[in-house]
Amino acid sequence: MTTHPGRCYDICQSRTISGENNVSGRPHPAVSPGVYANMKVLVKNKFTRGGLAVLLALALLPLSGCKPAEAEIIITAMDTVMVLTAYGDAAGAALESARAEILRLEALLSATDPDSDIGRINADPTAKTPVDDSTMELLLEAVSLSEASGGAVDMTVYPLVGAYGFPSGEYILPSDTELAALLELVGCEMVVLDGEAGTVSLELDGMAIDLGAFAKGYASDRCAEIVSGLGVTSALLMLGGNVKAVGSKPEGSPWRVAVKDPLGGTGYVGVIEVSDLAVVTSGSYERYFDVETDGELRRIHHIIDPYTGRPAEGGLVSVTVVSADGLLADAYSTALFVMGLEEASEFWRVTRNFEAVFVAEDGEVYITEGLEGSYFPSDTYPEYALITTQ
Ligand code: AMP
Ligand code: MG
Repeated sequence: MTTHPGRCYDICQSRTISGENNVSGRPHPAVSPGVYANMKVLVKNKFTRGGLAVLLALALLPLSGCKPAEAEIIITAMDTVMVLTAYGDAAGAALESARAEILRLEALLSATDPDSDIGRINADPTAKTPVDDSTMELLLEAVSLSEASGGAVDMTVYPLVGAYGFPSGEYILPSDTELAALLELVGCEMVVLDGEAGTVSLELDGMAIDLGAFAKGYASDRCAEIVSGLGVTSALLMLGGNVKAVGSKPEGSPWRVAVKDPLGGTGYVGVIEVSDLAVVTSGSYERYFDVETDGELRRIHHIIDPYTGRPAEGGLVSVTVVSADGLLADAYSTALFVMGLEEASEFWRVTRNFEAVFVAEDGEVYITEGLEGSYFPSDTYPEYALITTQ
């Protein structure tokens, strides 16, 4: 497998600002004309927000079978359903603190709430907007993860996400001309973070931030810190498709997290055994609509390639990332989906700070070699290929 010619990884840890203003120095390719011409939205995603939330909650299924939870709470927040489970005497109070933190973060980070930090930045992008310390911390980390991924995950993709109608559910296909104009607004090197003053501004009017690829991972890390700090040593925090395991199951065996079948089956692809790790899945099945062109159906999904402005076409249907760092796992699940299998495998070889399970459009499953011994394929997907360091 070879590296994608345009994106660089570890060498992008520091900013590479080219005349084109993109992170990797790779110029935005021209939007090829006509690809979306004459398409019309045929079928809206049948999942409403509520249905979608349930679907996301099922994306990663904890396989329990252990004694009943000491405490469990279910919250609808950050556009998904979250199930938090903890054991031990401190469980109930710890989960209440975790719930409060999730709601606090949602109120700061939601792009669709005009009163949130992100909503206020987006409403007046070039002004210096004061933000909460947590928002600043997340934005700083999101920029550095974006740079590390060569721009495959980028919080400034929101104008593109909006152009397809994903935030509102009013789906539409933007024209090539519109996409070309919006691509000029994408690039997190145009996000100005003043840590001292605690303010955020964006360089261009029309730019906007979306933390959809980062916020749940960040929240899962915060919640794990909070419950651990309150004395919990065994908990499973499932924030939609972002799972964070605190310790192991109460009796000491690892948590077992199943990767949902992204190709529409009712079962799962395999199970990953984890302790003190995050397991995060991004998939094109999570949010999409279909369009018909010349009698052919085409799926327009919600993971956008920041270089083309189009839904990522890397040949994958889901990517699951395993890492101790829930924010990194969240950001990279999106980034690897954009990269596609070959580039993502090379990225893993270079960085080695996560492991991953990839499901390709043809149903093939690939796992990075660090998961050997903790990944167990299901009967539906008994075969998998190993991605090695060679
Ligand atoms: P995830 O479910 O973590 O893969 O995040 C996907 C969400 O993040 C989408 O619903 C968009 O709101 C936003 N998004 C889509 N594509 C990207 C991208 N390339 N980089 C950053 N955020 C993205
Ligand atoms: Mg993500």
